[in-house]
Amino acid sequence: MNLGLKQIISNIVKDPSKIVTILDAWVASANPTEEQKNLAEARWNICVGCEHFREKRDVTGDPYCFKCGCNLRKKIFTIKYNECPEKKWEPVDELLWKDTQKQKKSIL
Ligand code: SF4
Repeated sequence: MNLGLKQIISNIVKDPSKIVTILDAWVASANPTEEQKNLAEARWNICVGCEHFREKRDVTGDPYCFKCGCNLRKKIFTIKYNECPEKKWEPVDELLWKDTQKQKKSIL
């Protein structure tokens, strides 16, 4: 099994609430607000320069984070503040995250 997928399964086993976080990110990515798009783009720009960035997962071909295993095209839309496992999103979340909370969309 792909190491990224093993990591994501391990994280969910340790903290089952991660499932909601992941699903919320997928929902937000499907129909993001302008504020969510802006924040996602800023987070993406940090990810592509990160040592944990992987361009293609073997099975799906999606870019992912080797640290947490998440699909980065979805994770960057997470509605949580600075959800990066290395806390590298802090500078852009500090500037942009609050604006995304005005029309927060959640599956719960
Ligand atoms: S989520 Fe964080 S650790 Fe993962 S690739 Fe992006 S910046 Fe790096």
